[in-house]
Amino acid sequence: MTDSHRRPDPDWSLATQAIRVGHHPTPEREHGEPIFTTSSFTFESAEQAAARFAGDEPGNIYARFTNPTTRIFEERLAAMEGGEDCVATASGMAAILTTFMALCEAGDEVVIARQVFGTTKVLFDKYLAKFGLVVHWVNLTDGSQWEAAVNERTRLLFIETPSNPLTEVADIRWLADLAHRFDAALVVDNCFCTPALQRPLSLGADIVIHSATKFLDGQGRAIGGAVVGDAERVGKEVRGFLRTCGPTMAPFNAWIFAKGLETLNLRMEAHSRHAREVADWLVAHEGVARVHFPGLADHPQAEIIAAQQTGPGAIVSFVVEGGREKAWEVINRTRMLSITANLGDTKTTITHPASTTHGRLSPEARAEAGIDEGLIRLSVGLEDPQDIIADLARGLGEQFD
Ligand SMILES: *Cc1c(COP(=O)(O)O)cnc(C)c1O
Repeated sequence: MTDSHRRPDPDWSLATQAIRVGHHPTPEREHGEPIFTTSSFTFESAEQAAARFAGDEPGNIYARFTNPTTRIFEERLAAMEGGEDCVATASGMAAILTTFMALCEAGDEVVIARQVFGTTKVLFDKYLAKFGLVVHWVNLTDGSQWEAAVNERTRLLFIETPSNPLTEVADIRWLADLAHRFDAALVVDNCFCTPALQRPLSLGADIVIHSATKFLDGQGRAIGGAVVGDAERVGKEVRGFLRTCGPTMAPFNAWIFAKGLETLNLRMEAHSRHAREVADWLVAHEGVARVHFPGLADHPQAEIIAAQQTGPGAIVSFVVEGGREKAWEVINRTRMLSITANLGDTKTTITHPASTTHGRLSPEARAEAGIDEGLIRLSVGLEDPQDIIADLARGLGEQFD
């Protein structure tokens, strides 16, 4: 009897892919995904070793560039994002670095949305720029700035949508069309939505980046990243950089992320539902001046959200009157929410962006980025939403003692 009837079916939906793609059982016929703790792989003969090294025969050589456990995570995520291949990396930052090092050279231009993860900004301005990459910063939602910045020397455009922490949303299809008119490629950091809520490649984007650290694991257990896209740029160029330069994901972490993917669909649906309850409660609260959440009907890009996302996600931010002092007071009065800058956990996290994630910006740059001193960001978790709301009510000064 063969297992050929158990091969992935191209018609499987995302929920099924997340559970069934990527695991090719060994002769032990294990049901759970195994962890291969090995640095190298042996060959049947010198001839086979030579064929593997020459690339004439596919197969494992050395775990800096492939490992069967890591491959489970890669194949699974590639299927879920609708990409031809996926390369796992040691962290989300390593995924961004690897992509730009593999696909750009000195003198190339890239256009990056200003509303990206703070460390991503530093990566471009401090490190990639010193190797001759020309970096243009534009406003995520201002089409005219993108049109003015993209030209024949542009290689890559880079965005996060929805953005952190204000959940601004870019039109992926429009930006992909703009990139392709100049033979450039659009790279989307899909951290906030994950493929459960948004599939950028199906909207025309060329490459998807992940910090697997966030929702792909979803339980705050490990650091990792991934690059998903076509066989040429990702399968060959990005993997080639990984093979030589070594920002490789460890197999134990790959196992955690592969198992995380199995429940991603359920978790993102629950994160979205809980976040919606919390956001609606905040909108009605008199101590809250403004709420940013992709699930609100009056979100400035509500139409794009309806067209490209199947859910709002977990990130809700809100502004309290009274600036930094009041925001810190609200945060400090909560008793359950975790005060941490991380996101994408089962545990709800609460952050003051102006003094943490965006603390390195000058006050003027912060104001320009819309990071109010009274802004608080939540990554709404999977606790009972009524308990999350009760803790926020305590934070906002209601009596719960
Ligand atoms: C956390 C994060 C990253 C960086 O990922 P690490 O795994 O921490 O290196 C990149 N992009 C976004 C949107 C993130 O939230």
